[in-house]
Formats: sequence, structure tokens, C-alpha cells
Amino acid sequence: MTEARRIQIQALVPPTLNVIIAHAEELTRLDRAIGDGDHGINMKRGAEKILQELPAICDKPADEALKSMGMALVMSVGGASGPLFGSLLMGMGQSLGARAINKDILAECFSAGIEAVKKRGRSDVAQKTMLDVLVPALEVLKSNAAGSNLYAKLKETVAACETRTIGMKALKGRASYLGERSIGHMDPGARSCGLAIREICNVLEAAKNE
Ligand code: ADP
Ligand code: MG
Repeated sequence: MTEARRIQIQALVPPTLNVIIAHAEELTRLDRAIGDGDHGINMKRGAEKILQELPAICDKPADEALKSMGMALVMSVGGASGPLFGSLLMGMGQSLGARAINKDILAECFSAGIEAVKKRGRSDVAQKTMLDVLVPALEVLKSNAAGSNLYAKLKETVAACETRTIGMKALKGRASYLGERSIGHMDPGARSCGLAIREICNVLEAAKNE
């Protein structure tokens, strides 16, 4: 693997996963309110599994690296979120293929990953799930309106979208069993996505300003 690509994976993946690990208790607390209280534990387990496999993952081309990370989540995480986040990463890897990543290709791959989540979860936006952060983030990525403020716009959008899930009624996943009582709590999966996307933006922003 070229040194440049190895550096990119090594620069992006550990900080993102470490943010998830650092927020495990908060994610579990959110899931305790409207689910079964395991989201933080699930995400931490998946993140640690990827970190453990990272040296081997770094030696792979980007598409294979994404698929391996997705597979690590599917294999190590028991809850619904493992297969869903796994589908996101595997769908992205499949769509990327041998191409080099640029902004347009990234948007295309992210879109393919989101479609894989929707298919796997039989879900869509406005159901109080991770999709309520992922889909608006994709819209920002696709629109050229943000221009050089792309990272700032992405961070602002995902933060607003996490918060917006508080007022939503869950229509998918365990939280949907609560019906109206799911209103008033942030969706844990949406929070995980927001944390991860914000950290990826922070790393890329810092690299741009170096
Ligand atoms: P489980 O629900 O099996 O306990 P987790 O607690 O790890 O799994 O993950 C719950 C999160 O998964 C939810 O907050 C939500 O964002 C996401 N989720 C659950 N079901 C779906 C679905 N069908 N489509 C998209 N996301 C979903
Ligand atoms: Mg749960």
C-alpha cells in the first residue's frame, strides 16, 4: 500500500473510533431511555475490533479497507447497529471500487452506503434513526453551496440533526416499541453518526490548514 493512503486511514480512523469509545457511556445512556441500553457497548466493541485489525486494514486498497471495517462491525457487534453501520461501510467500499477518492466520488460512495443501510434496515429518513443524520450530511456533501466551508457546514448540519431527533417519534428499531414515549429523547444511532462525522471533519479540516 502506498504510504499516502496508509497515512490517510491512520489519520482518520483511530481518532474517529476513539471519539465513539470516549462517548460509550453517553450512547448507552441515550439507548437506555428509548432502547435496551447497549448502543455504547455495541459501538465500543465494534470500534475496538476495527482498531485491533487496523494494521492489516491499512495494507489494503481503500475499497477493501472499507469492506473489512464493515465486516468487522457485522462480526463483532450484536445489536442492530452492527449490521447497519457494517452495511454503510461495505456499501461505500463496493461503490468506490478501484477509483481514487475525490469529493464527487465520496458523495457517490456515501450515497451507496446509505442505500445499503436503508435496504438492510427497511428504513428511511424521518423515522428517528441514524438515517436522520446520514442523509442530511449526504445532502451537504452533494450540494456545492458550502464551498470552502464544507466541513463547518457538515458539522453544523449533523449537530442540528442529532438534536432534531429529540422531537421525533421512532418508527423503526427498538425505540419504535415506545411509540409516542420515544419523543423527547435523542436517538443514540443518530448521535453516533454525528460524533463520527464531526471528528472526521475535524481531522480533515486540521489537515487542510496544516
Ligand atoms: P439494538 O437496537 O439492536 O439494541 P443499538 O442499540 O446498537 O442496537 O442501535 C440502535 C440504533 O440503531 C438506533 O438508535 C437507530 O439509530 C439505529 N437503528 C435501529 N433500527 C434501525 C433501522 N431499521 N434503520 C436504521 N437505523 C436503525
Ligand atoms: Mg440497543
